[in-house]
Amino acid sequence: MLLKELRQQLVEYGCKMFDAKLVRDGQGNISVLDDESGYIVITPTAVPYKIRKPEDICVVDRNRKLIEGNYPVTSENALHMVFYQKRQDIRAVVHSHPLYSTAISVIGEAEMPVVLNEAAFFLGAPLPVANYGRPGTEELANVTVEAAGLGVGAIMAHHGLVTVGSSLKNAYDSTLAAEDTAQVIILARAMSGRVVPLDTEEATILRKMYLKKCGY
Ligand SMILES: [Zn+2]
Repeated sequence: MLLKELRQQLVEYGCKMFDAKLVRDGQGNISVLDDESGYIVITPTAVPYKIRKPEDICVVDRNRKLIEGNYPVTSENALHMVFYQKRQDIRAVVHSHPLYSTAISVIGEAEMPVVLNEAAFFLGAPLPVANYGRPGTEELANVTVEAAGLGVGAIMAHHGLVTVGSSLKNAYDSTLAAEDTAQVIILARAMSGRVVPLDTEEATILRKMYLKKCGY
């Protein structure tokens, strides 16, 4: 089997994402770029997380041709591919539908501020909210990659969240940090109607500390 270890990782992270209630079953998608082969390992469409096996995970080339896998590739494959095309620095993409981040996606704000110092390690800067795009379309992929810029991802209007990173762990940690941030913002606003963002310079310093620690 091609890229067995990476495919096993995608099975494991899919279960983590499902157990953490970041997606409903079968929704959301994850991919990892393998530097050596140039292939992308990516989750299949709508297969329940708990019954996925490594051989069910798709291996595709950069032209989205299925090289190996038991099921069709996720319908959001354009979203993943556009990030690998535009960003030479990333090796993983995580797309989920977490409740609190998605709530932030429907209030018409342009970005979600950084408010927690622990989350700043994984976000570094406010997370932009991308324009609306219909699920599974090139349009959605383009507006999302444009909004993300060189950052760790974007909130997708009326939809969910995408994070990227130099490893699957890194991208997944940014998803957790974004969701924790969204939850705290919503709680803070419920209590007082406002939120105080973390100092921008402090957020940048914390992100740099994290990247240095990880050796990036
Ligand atoms: Zn989605």
